[in-house]
Amino acid sequence: MGNPTLVPSSSFCWNASCSAYGQVDLGNIRKFGRTPAGVQRYQCRICHRTFVETIGTVFYGRRRSQETIIECLALLAERNSLAAIHRVKGVKEETVMAWLRTAAAHVERIEALLLANYKLTRAQLDAMWVYVGNKGEKGAMPKPTIAAPSGAA
Ligand SMILES: [Zn+2]
Repeated sequence: MGNPTLVPSSSFCWNASCSAYGQVDLGNIRKFGRTPAGVQRYQCRICHRTFVETIGTVFYGRRRSQETIIECLALLAERNSLAAIHRVKGVKEETVMAWLRTAAAHVERIEALLLANYKLTRAQLDAMWVYVGNKGEKGAMPKPTIAAPSGAA
């Protein structure tokens, strides 16, 4: 099924306080046994945190591929309008906003994915989250904050 352009979730460190956070090809990730359920576990050689390969599946089960979802969020972070994303990707504005709200509940994971796959700056990421706050309307989300690292696996 084509070449996935998203790097695998096992190719970079997911620990937001690690110097290698969200960076691929540093050679810092190694296999680290399996969970009792048989899922491959990985460890970052720099911060020694471990994580499993399924950590990237925040959007598991959505109709669109995770790749498309992350790409739309990256476009948003690069200050493309929702209308522009609709034109380019064919995804409805409310759908992108729904993804963004889901993403806001998983800030650490989504930022790691975006950083690993797109050349985004901290400021661009912050601007993207502000977007959720502004467009949240009723039931506005609390401003997402980077949660303290909580056992990555
Ligand atoms: Zn690390």
